[in-house]
Amino acid sequence: MTTDCVFCKIAAGTIPATILYQDELVTAFKNIEPKTPVHILIIPNRHITSINDVQPEDEAILGHLFSIARRMAAELGVQHSGYRLVVNTGPDAGQSVFHLHLHLLGGRRMPFRFEE
Ligand code: AMP
Ligand code: ZN
Repeated sequence: MTTDCVFCKIAAGTIPATILYQDELVTAFKNIEPKTPVHILIIPNRHITSINDVQPEDEAILGHLFSIARRMAAELGVQHSGYRLVVNTGPDAGQSVFHLHLHLLGGRRMPFRFEE
C-alpha cells in the first residue's frame, strides 16, 4: 500500500467507502461526488499511479477492470441504457487521484464532452 493514497486505503478497508464489489485484484465503490445517477470507480487493489505507469505484467489487471465494469453495469441496470467508462490521465484530463481508476458513469444522457 502507498501510505498517503486514498484509493489504496479504500482497497485495504482502512477508510470507509460504499464498496459494491471486491476480489483479489480490484475494488468497485461509489464515487463520493457522483456526476451521474450511476457513478462508480473501479480500481486495481495494487497501487498503479496512472495509465502512464502501466507495465506489460499489468495487462491482466486492466482486462479484469473492464470485465468487472461490464458486470457492474449489468448489476446497476445501465447495460442497455448505456454507460461511459473514463480513465483520466494527467493534468489536461484533470486527474485528481493518482491511483489508476476507471469511472463508470450512467443513468442519464451524457454530453459528448465529459466535464468533471
Ligand atoms: P479523477 O479526476 O479521474 O482523478 O477522479 C477522481 C474521483 O475520485 C473524483 O470523481 C472524486 O469524486 C472521487 N473520489 C475522491 N475521493 C473519494 C473517496 N474517498 N471515495 C469515493 N470517491 C472519491
Ligand atoms: Zn494507491
